[in-house]
Amino acid sequence: MADRSFLSWPFFEERHREHAERLEEWCAANLPVDHHDVDAACRKLVETLGEAGFLLPTAIDPSNPQPLDVRTLCISRETLARHDGLADFAFAMQGLGTGAISLFGTPEQQRWLEKTRTGKAISAFVLTEPRSGSDVANMEMTATRDGGDYILSGEKTWISNGGIADLYCVFARTGEAPGAKGISAFLVPADTLGLKIAERLETIAPHPLARLVFDDMRLPASAMIGKPGEGFKIAMSVLDVFRSTVGAAALGFARRALDETLARVSQRQLFGAPLFDLQMVQGNVAEMALDVDAAALLVYRAAWTKDSGAARVTREAAMAKLYATDRAQSVIDKAVQLHGGDGVKKGHIVESLYREIRALRIYEGASDVQKVVIARQTMGA
Ligand SMILES: Cc1cc2nc3c(=O)[nH]c(=O)nc-3n(C[C@H](O)[C@H](O)[C@H](O)COP(=O)(O)OP(=O)(O)OC[C@H]3O[C@@H](n4cnc5c(N)ncnc54)[C@H](O)[C@@H]3O)c2cc1C
Repeated sequence: MADRSFLSWPFFEERHREHAERLEEWCAANLPVDHHDVDAACRKLVETLGEAGFLLPTAIDPSNPQPLDVRTLCISRETLARHDGLADFAFAMQGLGTGAISLFGTPEQQRWLEKTRTGKAISAFVLTEPRSGSDVANMEMTATRDGGDYILSGEKTWISNGGIADLYCVFARTGEAPGAKGISAFLVPADTLGLKIAERLETIAPHPLARLVFDDMRLPASAMIGKPGEGFKIAMSVLDVFRSTVGAAALGFARRALDETLARVSQRQLFGAPLFDLQMVQGNVAEMALDVDAAALLVYRAAWTKDSGAARVTREAAMAKLYATDRAQSVIDKAVQLHGGDGVKKGHIVESLYREIRALRIYEGASDVQKVVIARQTMGA
């Protein structure tokens, strides 16, 4: 059983501990799932997580709107990631894909949330383009006004849930101003004419991912989320809520790697004694435990700060994401090393963690970008 003493830290309330307990029980009974068909696995995960009520925290309740509870999101992602990376992915995308609707949607648009919060619809967040990843403000896809409609034209890539989503939250250039101030957000149901799944993308840790083409797609102006030109601000507000949850997922992977390592070094006999008796092994275990606790402190500090009413947590979330993902990579690498040959054997849990963790240092703002954000925030620039 993973160390869950962090739940008694003052960041949490009783409802968080109860949530962690319920989700832990659900995970033990339902995870991991079979990953051979990731589309089918994700659809099923969204459905079953929804039926069990665990997707409710991913979006606001339109009939009783309260701010998203970032601590619940983080506890959920940490717990799910510890059991199954695909389950964490399925959960996370329900929040990221609908974040703009939760924060800025009209009551009509928010009707989608009844479906996504109960696992009856899958969502996607559509920002990245082939020529604008980290450089979001440079996006090229256009949304051109045509009478009462907008015509969307262009290409997006690396879209999680691309191909299986029921609704896409799409960012495109409406041109009110150059750069970041000329982008708007749109709600696009998957069956809208002009949406093409141009290519499915495979990665070292398979998830549903796609490159999308928007071929002169006509949308009513009512599909816009927020106001014209607010898209960049909307995207950043969504990432401000969800960025620390990426750190939480990394923390879940790291905690699992530490647990597996503790079991391994106490069982494995080398030189007539358990592997753990070697002091250099103890040094590695100590560094892993330290990384896990320090990451947890940063992740839950960011979540608590947001939940306590801070308008923005740009610095805290960047620190949590950068540190937790980078240190999880190191923790998992040590776990692989201490497992010897088994650590790189296809299908072994630490081998899959080694693959799962890598993309977290790239998406939702690469580690280098987080450093720039932290430096600027620290300078007050
Ligand atoms: C598994 C996965 C899932 C994804 N899911 C989604 C999704 O659902 N929706 C979506 O819109 N996008 C998604 N993405 C895209 C992701 O957000 C981008 O890959 C990311 O923003 C980086 O963009 P890029 O790949 O174009 O790399 P680039 O922007 O070309 O950057 C390459 C590298 O350059 C370095 N770099 C960049 N900027 C700086 C800087 N300012 N200072 C120093 N170094 C820098 C970093 O090391 C960076 O990794 C996903 C990506 C992956 C891998």
